[in-house]
Amino acid sequence: MKAIQMVKAQAEPELREVDKPSPGPGQVLLKVTAAGACHSDDFVLNAPPGALGFDLPMTLGHEGAGVVAEVGSGVDSVTEGTSVVVYGPWGCGVCRFCSQGLENYCSKAEELKIYPPGLGAPGAMAEYMIVDDPRHLVPIGDLDPVSTVSLTDAGLTPYHAIKASLPKLVGGSTAVVIGSGGLGHVAIQMLRHLSPAQVIALDVTQNKLDFAKSVGAHEAVLSDSDAVDNVRKIVGKDGVTAVFDFVGYQPTIDIAMGVVGTLGDVTIVGLGDGSATAKVGYWAQPHEVSVRSPYWGARTELLEVIDLAHNGVVDVALETFSLDDGVEAYRRLAANNLRGRAVVVP
Ligand code: NAD
Ligand code: ZN
Repeated sequence: MKAIQMVKAQAEPELREVDKPSPGPGQVLLKVTAAGACHSDDFVLNAPPGALGFDLPMTLGHEGAGVVAEVGSGVDSVTEGTSVVVYGPWGCGVCRFCSQGLENYCSKAEELKIYPPGLGAPGAMAEYMIVDDPRHLVPIGDLDPVSTVSLTDAGLTPYHAIKASLPKLVGGSTAVVIGSGGLGHVAIQMLRHLSPAQVIALDVTQNKLDFAKSVGAHEAVLSDSDAVDNVRKIVGKDGVTAVFDFVGYQPTIDIAMGVVGTLGDVTIVGLGDGSATAKVGYWAQPHEVSVRSPYWGARTELLEVIDLAHNGVVDVALETFSLDDGVEAYRRLAANNLRGRAVVVP
């Protein structure tokens, strides 16, 4: 079968011919219906050789949807033909975090060398993929897999990030979304649906600002050296209630810390280049600011996000590519030249 693989560090992925896998005991084989490309793939592809801890070549794609094609021995909770999406941050299933559905924070994954599909284990950018356990599948019924697949990360990650700030996002509150790309444009829609906050989007081009407004942002501000002043002109002296940074480079973290108000939240989701820091101390930020750096989301939260999709609350903007053109999807992602998400349809 065809698969898009990371073959070596700091190089473009490649379309390659690999063996079709078959499910071992407890596993599920999916015929892939859609796979999303995430900016984290770009981070992984550009990491220095050996930095990631898993073996290459590795099939990419940590946003996956498919139809159950075959189940391994002992699997009786899903049946062939069911349309599903894949919960990606696989854990051991039994530790303190996994027991709460927070497999994204599994305490044993590293020790047991459990990797998410597409981030160590073979991922969804292929004709077929193996899912290690049926608990990592969420049936999607009659939802279109192509427009739903990205909710497994570009939906789940902002949902998890926003949920933690919802108690503060009351009437009269403000939320800033930095980076109106794959994750950010879904975050804007979720904020509008889940809270009464005034939503201000930041990005680097007028196209992206127009896009942010088209998906629900009340205001859109260029992310430049005047951004802090321009956001403060909108929100006034109390500052922003909750900032969600979907970029994570030093300039955006500086903007986040510059606009947040007393008792506010700064949530840094973007990986940036891996080197940015926030200066924290008694005198460094307004009183009682909380800073968080969440990773992905809980298994239960993916069910909640899929319910939002059933209710028509989120609409992922996407551009589709065939597997043969999948490498081009990664080029467009790296060039910051996509509206919403790139989805590969095998
Ligand atoms: P994307 O490329 O689709 O979107 C990024 C957006 O940020 C683009 O619209 C781009 O124009 C904008 N941008 C770039 N520089 C900017 C700046 N200085 N100011 C404002 N906007 C700027 O990326 P994505 O797939 O949405 O991922 C966003 C980030 O989140 C990436 O760093 C990715 O690795 C990370 N991520 C983290 C998690 C997690 O669990 N923490 C999960 C998924 C993705
Ligand atoms: Zn665990």
